[in-house]
Amino acid sequence: MPAHMRKQLKNHFVIGFVPFGGNFDEFIQPFINELKEFEKGKIMNIQGRDVWVVAGLGVVTADLPQGNDLSGVLRHGATKGCRTCTVEKYSYTDNSADIIRLSRYKQCTDLDFSLIAAESSITRKKQIGSEFGLRIKQSILDELQRERHLQTPQDIYHATAGKIKRLLRLTCELFSHEGENAFIRTWKALEKPKKWAYLPNPISHHESFMMSDYLRLAMIMPFILHRFLKVIHIKSDNLALIQQRINVQRNDLVPKYIVKCWVCVAQTMKIAFDRHFTNEKYIELQRCLDAKMNILTQVFEEFVNLPNLHLNFHFLLHARTYATLSNTQVGIKEMIHRIFKSMVLKTNRKTVELDLIKRYNTIFAIRHLIDGGTDRRFSRSSNGFTSLQKSDKSLFTNWYVTEDNSFSQDDYENETGGNKVAIILL
Ligand SMILES: [Zn+2]
Repeated sequence: MPAHMRKQLKNHFVIGFVPFGGNFDEFIQPFINELKEFEKGKIMNIQGRDVWVVAGLGVVTADLPQGNDLSGVLRHGATKGCRTCTVEKYSYTDNSADIIRLSRYKQCTDLDFSLIAAESSITRKKQIGSEFGLRIKQSILDELQRERHLQTPQDIYHATAGKIKRLLRLTCELFSHEGENAFIRTWKALEKPKKWAYLPNPISHHESFMMSDYLRLAMIMPFILHRFLKVIHIKSDNLALIQQRINVQRNDLVPKYIVKCWVCVAQTMKIAFDRHFTNEKYIELQRCLDAKMNILTQVFEEFVNLPNLHLNFHFLLHARTYATLSNTQVGIKEMIHRIFKSMVLKTNRKTVELDLIKRYNTIFAIRHLIDGGTDRRFSRSSNGFTSLQKSDKSLFTNWYVTEDNSFSQDDYENETGGNKVAIILL
């Protein structure tokens, strides 16, 4: 399916919800059983014709810890807690690590799992498990045909926004009082694209930033910092610390290195979210990812061995496996999650799951009818809905409802957060 269609909410189907603390295995079992049937192939009657349908698991996207669970790998706190390789946590950002040799391969992990299964005592199972960085029980998804490591890629969207969030906090912490004032002044004066929603103050309000806010800010940060950042804007102890870390004689090089960090982040982001890749671009992507890892770990202690930064070793693999990185990014999934989260408040809170599915089905039905679809139970097509679309074609194209966390100018001046519902037209 082309990217623009994949992004539409109507092409995402929610099959259910696992309540917080619920058992994922129990929940997903019926789905797994059905998929197993599809793996073998099945005749289905579609619009009056018998069709041979074969289907299987494509890709699993999840947050970092849950993704590890689903690939049967221990979480990031473990010594070997990366789901794509077996590099130890003390060397997560060590660029001398031989990633190809240390990568996880399905056939090898299968053998490791069989060794764990052969042990009878739980203690011994756990011992071997921690040696391999594996859970003692395989994921339920292993019942399906899949490559557990390749088909559970880490998400570029979360990873990038997470790193920017951290870098923004670290950068703001470096500023002296003068530095903060100069930053805010320059940030306010910088001409931003008119289409952008108002960004809250990055120093005092960055906690209320949405992921997309971080990505936007990262695009303009190199320009902002380049315009004002001087030695006097950095607290003296921080200045000395970074000067020592980057091992330079002149302290006026410190601001340059900080700007360089942001430049690397912005360059990597641009190429990581590219829709089209060529061989040259893959090489460029890896160069940017490496440069980003080197500069961030050099300037800031906090980035050394950070699991999130370690992912830079693996994004090229994911990009090559799925053609681009945005093919497996989870922006839309996050949006759907948010829609449902906001719906929960309007349910009776007793049979939440049923209530949500009912609402979702209704939205789907309306969307189907608006798109000119027909309800076969009736002889006529739904003229009311189709003409509604004609009357204002743009109104129902790609709409979604979201809680507006962005601040208006007034909100910002009064320092109170907005909490409104907005319909965004794409
Ligand atoms: Zn790894």
